[in-house]
Amino acid sequence: MGGAPTDLKLIDERGLRLDGRRPDEMRPLKIEAGVLNKADGSAFVEWGMNKVMAAVYGPRECHPRHLQNTERALVQCHYNMASFSVEDRKRPGPDRRSHEISKILSEALTHVVFTEYFPRTSIDVYIEVLQANAGTRCAGLTAASVALADAGVPMRDLVASVAAGKVANTIVLDLGKEEDNFGQADIPVGYVPRTDEVVLLQMDGDLTREEFDKGLHMAVGACKKVYEVQRDALKRRYSARAEGQEEGA
Ligand code: ADP
Repeated sequence: MGGAPTDLKLIDERGLRLDGRRPDEMRPLKIEAGVLNKADGSAFVEWGMNKVMAAVYGPRECHPRHLQNTERALVQCHYNMASFSVEDRKRPGPDRRSHEISKILSEALTHVVFTEYFPRTSIDVYIEVLQANAGTRCAGLTAASVALADAGVPMRDLVASVAAGKVANTIVLDLGKEEDNFGQADIPVGYVPRTDEVVLLQMDGDLTREEFDKGLHMAVGACKKVYEVQRDALKRRYSARAEGQEEGA
């Protein structure tokens, strides 16, 4: 968020954005489930210029042990941005931002996983951002949900995620990098369609109550589209598996 260079027009005369999108248009989204052999479940998401891999291990013995919960499983997200994921090399290793994102994504996923089925265990979700262009926490959450389902972890539903925001006094969907840098607000949302619940909501910048409502409404509507892409990835994965089993039979 911040002041744009004076010649940078985030919305042009035709009402279009820097990359030609309409205000309520998402960047192209592709999801592939089951892309890693060694993980219990995995998913790869390409969302605009973001590339994010999610890998799930577990439920398995919880480490460190003092975190074990005798009543339920612990969902532990580990969000990491590769040093080659951004233009200037990112300093490798955890930082405040990655800790924050790991925490909020863990909380969002804990809402949908039936953690009570697996006391004392940990469900580890690794989110590796290979290429970043704003919106990586939403891409990570979207990928992680598919990876959990691919691992066969029992869940109430998938979490779908996308951000809304405000640029050049306009409420827009799915902010790109320049919009994130020079826009006025960013609201990442995680939504569970089946229960109509919001499980992730953050806000950076300034919005009136009316603008906030419009942004949230726009993001929830778009999450329903993200959800369809997630389900489609899982359907393709299961039909490929079923075909493989038939061939093996
Ligand atoms: P999100 O990726 O969820 O939108 P942020 O708003 O914190 O999260 O980051 C926006 C974008 O800024 C990222 O997607 C990435 O392109 C860039 N970015 C974040 N952290 C760094 C960093 N340490 N170095 C370079 N670019 C970064």
